[in-house]
Amino acid sequence: MKISKLHEKKKVVFSFEIFPPKPQYPIETVYDTLEALGDLSPDFISVTYGAGGSVRENRTSELSGMIKHKLKIEPMAHLTCVGSRKADIDTILAELQAGGIQNILALRGDIPEGGALDSDFTYAADLIRYIKETTDFDIAAACYPEKHTECESLEKDIEHLKQKVDCGVGHLVTQLFFYNDHFYDFCDKIETKGIHVPVTAGIMPMVNKKQMERMATMCGAQIPEKHRQMMEKYGDDPAAMREAGIIYALEQIVDLIANGVRGIHIYTMNNPLVARKISMYLQNILASVNEA
Ligand code: FAD
Repeated sequence: MKISKLHEKKKVVFSFEIFPPKPQYPIETVYDTLEALGDLSPDFISVTYGAGGSVRENRTSELSGMIKHKLKIEPMAHLTCVGSRKADIDTILAELQAGGIQNILALRGDIPEGGALDSDFTYAADLIRYIKETTDFDIAAACYPEKHTECESLEKDIEHLKQKVDCGVGHLVTQLFFYNDHFYDFCDKIETKGIHVPVTAGIMPMVNKKQMERMATMCGAQIPEKHRQMMEKYGDDPAAMREAGIIYALEQIVDLIANGVRGIHIYTMNNPLVARKISMYLQNILASVNEA
């Protein structure tokens, strides 16, 4: 099913993100994770795509097919266009179509160090336009409540987002964030700019010290003082840190749902234990809003 249609049926769509194993590892290494996530019955599972990797090394289509046909859960395949020719994109689109995949998260991808590669696409909007013109996929795009790291201002980034949405995006998924107020302000701002598609909140439970340090620099999300305190207090105790990260994420999610968020997307980091705990605590809340 197309995820845009799912948004018409449900008040809150609940989903997970996984990433495929690196090319040097067998694909089977992710099967247990996938099956464990499938048991939690999310509305969909998205599979990341290695920007700049060769088409041959792409395992996103294969895993998306497995999610659809073995787990019987809707997949959303990520697809980046940085460094890609139209022929590369055509190959992947054909693979996804052959696997019965209906949903794509269309991205530019990060520009590799040393500058942009030869490419038929400059921005995600170019990819979205191309997919829209040549296929019938339901297309999602990324958005950034605290602005994309390369953009000079949130206002400018929202202008670019509007161009993307106007190319044919059915719904949006946010970069991770830790302050819900940033998300609420962002939603108000995009509404006034005429962006009315459902926005799903991307939530990453910060369950270990390394992850927190890496994410802070990578994605530009403001790290709350509470997180720093958590890291100081529990950072060297993996079990305690994991619980603290899960509890923080749950508080965020409960508040988002109470304030009318249209979707929750958990960046699972391929950790089914974290996904299981979050799902367990959200079960009644999601049932309550979706059945109301
Ligand atoms: P774009 O929308 O093209 O924006 C990139 C930058 O260009 C922004 O600063 C924007 O303001 C600017 N811009 C856009 N249009 C214009 C214009 N016309 N003129 C001037 N500037 C413009 N990366 C991966 O490699 N694989 C993944 O699977 C993956 N999944 C992701 C999932 C989500 C939900 C998110 C939020 C990010 C994901 N990323 C992934 C990271 C993403 O590829 C990077 O953030 C990348 O740098 C930007 O991609 P984009 O699609 O948002 O780009």
